[in-house]
This record gives sequence, structure tokens and C-alpha cells, in this order.
Amino acid sequence: MYVIGAGPGGLAVAHALRARGLRAVVLERADHVGSSWRRHYDRLRLHTTRRLSALPGLPMPRRFGRWVARDDVVRYLEKYAEHHQLEVVTGVEVFRVERAPDDAGWLLHASGGRELTGAAVVVATGCNHTPRVPDWPGRDTYTGEFRHAAEYRDPAPYAGRDVLVVGVGNTGAEIAVDLVEGGAARVRLAVRTAPHIVRRSTAGWPAQYTGVLCRRLPVALVDRLARPVARISVPDLSAQGLPRPETGLYSRVSQGAIPVQDVGLIDAVRTGRVEVVAAMDGFEDGKVLLSDGTRIAPDAVIAATGYRRGLEGLLGHLGVLDDTGRPLAHGGHTPATAPGLYFTGYTNPISGMLRELAIDAERIAGAVVKREKREKRGAGGVSRLPG
Ligand SMILES: Cc1cc2nc3c(=O)[nH]c(=O)nc-3n(C[C@H](O)[C@H](O)[C@H](O)COP(=O)(O)OP(=O)(O)OC[C@H]3O[C@@H](n4cnc5c(N)ncnc54)[C@H](O)[C@@H]3O)c2cc1C
Repeated sequence: MYVIGAGPGGLAVAHALRARGLRAVVLERADHVGSSWRRHYDRLRLHTTRRLSALPGLPMPRRFGRWVARDDVVRYLEKYAEHHQLEVVTGVEVFRVERAPDDAGWLLHASGGRELTGAAVVVATGCNHTPRVPDWPGRDTYTGEFRHAAEYRDPAPYAGRDVLVVGVGNTGAEIAVDLVEGGAARVRLAVRTAPHIVRRSTAGWPAQYTGVLCRRLPVALVDRLARPVARISVPDLSAQGLPRPETGLYSRVSQGAIPVQDVGLIDAVRTGRVEVVAAMDGFEDGKVLLSDGTRIAPDAVIAATGYRRGLEGLLGHLGVLDDTGRPLAHGGHTPATAPGLYFTGYTNPISGMLRELAIDAERIAGAVVKREKREKRGAGGVSRLPG
């Protein structure tokens, strides 16, 4: 069977399948495993703990510390593929997945004119490869520098400059702090909806542990529990433009907004080193137009406006995506009309995505084995490893 994408999700599934004696070939369009992590900005560290971010069958070394640095994540993923002897074919992009003729599973159209057939396919292409940039009017009038956060590496090019960061997800928040620490002359952060902000850890207790404990609790209950915790641990930043959100923390997660883990934003906003401004609505006469009618003229704009899953071209014709482009099933479940087509990495868990990918990998492998047992041996083409 085939796994599309050699990020942590795809690698974890490939190992889980191999551990059950099934052959899985991972197709990766980049030249290396973990290509998303290689592209992330330099200061990035995991917000989730080393222990709860490891994939099945290989712990992360202690020397990586509690909050693992980007380069160590990349090292770990390389080691993971090598340690488990995964079959990863790099430089192969899958463009389209179709039903194979005669109900023989799935046909993958890939680069180099390849047509590959597998009884089962796991889609693990990730959520962070196609930058989403709002279609802001007047963009051609802006003569300053404009970039999506995906292109941001480090603050050096922005030293001494006036920068507007648009969007206050984890990425926007962290880039704003990085710019301040890296010597930008002025840093403004355009915010449409104030986020929930949580401390990465409090008295040694990581926010992720709370996320894990709350994962299965009712949304309203978690919302209620989170309110007093936020009041104790995060100062009121209303005067600086970041009021406490009215919608509860877990309700926002269900809407797709993970809380911002504080890696310096609270202090930077409190001390005025990051200035919060209204949301960005577009450009006008070469300036940036904000939703409160203000016009500002930063030297550079960095759009930390997220990514699209970008699954439509690959799978849109199969009826396996919802209106927002999200797969209809994930983990061990497949869409009702698409047996053998699995998805991992398209959820938004409060307990940490890497942890979720590890859990889903085992579930997918378990489901594939069950399905294989149900079907006649050899009929579907899932190949067993010798021995
Ligand atoms: C800035 C940032 C910080 C994060 N920090 C954390 C954290 O601290 N803790 C945590 O748990 N999670 C974190 N995440 C979330 C998540 O764990 C990572 O995004 C993780 O890399 C997702 O793994 P993935 O395998 O689903 O996707 P990816 O890592 O994006 O891997 C997908 C792979 O598929 C390949 N691919 C895509 N399309 C095709 C195609 N058509 N054909 C072939 N190959 C294809 C890509 O090249 C890529 O290598 C973070 C995400 C971001 C963006």
C-alpha cells in the first residue's frame, strides 16, 4: 500500500504498518523526509513536550531537551525513517488519486508519469504546505516588502525596520516576538479576533498535559474550567488591544483556533514592544488599511494568515472532503464511499498534533490489518513482508 507524504504523520503510519508485517511505500515530493519542518523559521521549538511528541517505536533523545528545537525535529524524523528501515521514495509527487479499475483499490497518478495501484492509501500530505493569503484589495499599490510567514526564517533582514505582522496564531505571535528580539525598529501585530493565550508551562506543568486531560471532556466544561485559569496565569491585556476572548477556549478549538502558547508575546505586548492594531483589510494608496479605518505605512508586511489543506486537486472528485476541504474521516475510519482510503493529520487536537499522529498511525494500521483479514488473501494487493 502507499502513504502519501513523509512528514511525521506519514512516517508514523509506515512504521505502524511495517510493524504489523505490511509493506508500505511512502511517496514524498520533496528530496527529504520532514520537508515542512526543514522550512520552518529558525527559532521554532516544539510547543509540545519531547516525550509526548515522539512517534511510535522511537523515543526522542533526552539531549533534545524538553522543548525540542526545529533542527532536532528534522534530525529525529531522518533517524526515524532510517531506524525503522522505512521505504521512502523521495522526489515523487502524487497529483491525483482515483479508484482503480475493477475495484482493485486506488490508482495514484504521480510525477514522472507514474501510475501506482494500491489496495489501500494513506493521505498524509499535511496542513502546512499551501500558504493562505487573503485576497487583499490594492496589493499592487504597496511598494514595501510583502511575504507570507512561510517565507520567514529569522529577524535579521528586518533589523531597524517597521514591520506589520498580520494574524495572531502561534506563528504570528512568535514571529512578532522574534522581530522584537532581533532588533526591528517597530513591530505591530494586526488582530481580528483576540486569541486565547496560555503559558507553555506553569510551575513545570506543560499546557499540553492539560490539553491531554481535557481532550475528551465536554466543550462547555473545559470552557468553564479554562476561564479562571486564564485569569490567574495571563494578565489582562485589554488596554493593549488584546481583551480576553468571549468565546470559550475549547469552543474556539472546535472552530479551528488552537490557543496561542506564550513564548514572549504577553511580555512584549504588556511592555509595548509589540503594538496590537486592528485587523488588516487591504492596501490603499500604497499604505495598509486597517479595519478601524486607520492607514499605516510599515516597511514590510508578514502575513501569518495560515495555510490551506489543498486536498481538492488530489481528492476533490472523490466526494471524500467536506465543504471546507477537510476529509470526512480520519484515523482508522474511512469515508463510507471510499474503503481503503485513510487520512492522518487533518484534525486540530488540543492535546498536540504529533501525539495525535502517533495515535492515528496505530489506528490506521490496525484498521488495515482488520480489513485485510476480512478480504480474500491477495485479492486487494496489500503485500506482506517476507517473514
Ligand atoms: C510552525 C508550526 C509549529 C508546530 N508545532 C507543533 C508542536 O509543537 N507540536 C505538535 O504536536 N505539532 C506542531 N505542529 C503541527 C504538526 O505537528 C506539524 O505540522 C507536523 O509536521 C504535521 O505532520 P504531517 O505529517 O501531517 O504533515 P507535514 O509535516 O507537512 O508532512 C507532509 C509531507 O507530505 C509531503 N507532500 C505534500 N503533498 C504531497 C503530494 N501531493 N505528494 C507527495 N508528497 C506530498 C510534503 O512535502 C511533506 O513532506 C506545528 C505546525 C507548525 C506549522
